[in-house]
Amino acid sequence: MKHVTLTFDNGPDAEVTPLVLDILARRGIKTTFFVVGNRLAANRAPAERAHAEGHWIGNHTWSHSIPFRDRDDMDFVAAEIDRTQEEIGALSHPDRLFRPYGGKGRLDGALNAGAAQHLSQRRYTCVLWNAVPGDFDNHDGWVETALPQVATIDWPLVVLHDVHARAMQHLDRFLGKLQDRGTVFEQAFPPTCIAMNRGRETDLLECGIVAN
Ligand SMILES: [Zn+2]
Repeated sequence: MKHVTLTFDNGPDAEVTPLVLDILARRGIKTTFFVVGNRLAANRAPAERAHAEGHWIGNHTWSHSIPFRDRDDMDFVAAEIDRTQEEIGALSHPDRLFRPYGGKGRLDGALNAGAAQHLSQRRYTCVLWNAVPGDFDNHDGWVETALPQVATIDWPLVVLHDVHARAMQHLDRFLGKLQDRGTVFEQAFPPTCIAMNRGRETDLLECGIVAN
């Protein structure tokens, strides 16, 4: 049985997030939305709805502007993480899910030493990824990239984005193909994508995730 976990990053978006939620509800699929703090501050309603419908809400930095590999001063690190967590407030998953901004899916240096320590001290769960089909670049062709990716990964954690309306027009087709193949959609994350579990660092953190 093929297990697939879906996540939607970079929202919420007033137009696209509700569209995604409608599709997921029709298909009975639960996911996680990794929200950007400054977008959440401007569009809270779609995140409230996602939470009410059983999706998990995670923290995906405040500004989504500079990967931690390129900026490591602690004022920046703390603001990117904590300000967003405050904005999420009661919508937060109890495990305090955090996903760094890697920059087009890059995992190397997605954290820096200060960010890793900050997350650990505050008992965050750091959720990375293993499938990035590039819906942000290839709005009409990402499904054809995603399907073979999903097929080759043991338990894929797929990163999609609830911000590009055109790309999300293909979401239902993607989900239909996976369901036709007997896919089981998991809301939980594959353990191989967890770099930190409630503040406890995992072996994954040794694999170049933390910038030198
Ligand atoms: Zn992102």
